[in-house]
Amino acid sequence: MKIGVIGGGQLGRMLALAGTPLGMSFAFLDPAPDACAAALGEHLRADYNDQAHLRQLADEVDLVTFEFESVPAETVAFLSQFVPVFPSAESLRVARDRLFEKTLFQNLSIPTPAFADIQSQAGLEAAVANIGLPAVLKTRTLGYDGKGQKVLRSGADVEGTFAELGSVPCLLEGFVPFTGEVSLVAVRGRDGETRFYPLVHNTHENGILRLSVASDAHPLQALAEEYAGRVLEHLGYVGVLAFEFFEVDGGLKANEIAPRVHNSGHWTIEGAECSQFENHLRAVAGLPLGSTAKVGESAMVNFIGEVPPVAQVAAVADCHLHHYGKAFKAGRKVGHATLRCSDSDTLKKRIVQVQALV
Ligand code: AMP
Repeated sequence: MKIGVIGGGQLGRMLALAGTPLGMSFAFLDPAPDACAAALGEHLRADYNDQAHLRQLADEVDLVTFEFESVPAETVAFLSQFVPVFPSAESLRVARDRLFEKTLFQNLSIPTPAFADIQSQAGLEAAVANIGLPAVLKTRTLGYDGKGQKVLRSGADVEGTFAELGSVPCLLEGFVPFTGEVSLVAVRGRDGETRFYPLVHNTHENGILRLSVASDAHPLQALAEEYAGRVLEHLGYVGVLAFEFFEVDGGLKANEIAPRVHNSGHWTIEGAECSQFENHLRAVAGLPLGSTAKVGESAMVNFIGEVPPVAQVAAVADCHLHHYGKAFKAGRKVGHATLRCSDSDTLKKRIVQVQALV
């Protein structure tokens, strides 16, 4: 089976690493000359709206999937005429726009921060008067890793901020005084079979994920699954869908969803029976899903900007390095390490050892 992937970054690369043993081959559509997934499949180097290359991709592959959500809606609509596309155009439409995803949470009675659609500076000021400060202003689309957002703490922060974010449609959210951030990676097959990985506790710095630790029997696991299940069923979703939640007052508030494999699920390559990458491919290909059970205690440390010398990472026991083969650049995700240990005390020691290399 040949899989077409829109986007050729590290998520595409890890999909190919998981799918190759299943007998799958891959073609990646990505305009970047140095797309790091290209080493593991065919690289169609073209813009996402280049219809000639989209048609070529559709003709060559059995189905198309995505490794990022900011794909233009027209691209998905065009491809869908010729080849099965998973997740669906509707799932992407909702997940790529913060207003649509928060509205969906609200409609499905999933707690989420107070929010308002912002189309102008005057609209921002009116919404601040309503929601109050602190608050967070985010561009509705295309934001990632803390880009395209600003925390507003005082009146001075509000002045000129709509223009600062590019005068594009934005969402104002009430600031959530969370006690923790957790994510749930879910997978739903073409036949509706659904599985969930254990909740992961995430630590961000400057909006970028730094550390994910997979939990054991988290008290909020059932609640997170309940919320996620509502979204999966509503969308008739196929593939991996990641949910980011704030932990607040002993409950959860949904922050966002990502319609793809997710950075907080990278630990599953070594830390779960079947990784999020393999399960995404199983789901879109109509295969039975694999077990999402944890194997030992796991954590993932992101390498941002640069990967420490390989020999140093390799010297840490229980450590698995994933070097994405990307050029090093400040703020860019260029690799990660998964630590998988038999007990949580050892895991804590290993996390400190790897973080000391960063
Ligand atoms: P996001 O791009 O929405 O995932 O936001 C990036 C990070 O900013 C989150 O992981 C949080 O640490 C923080 N953040 C985003 N939205 C809020 C909010 N409404 N209240 C508090 N912190 C937030």
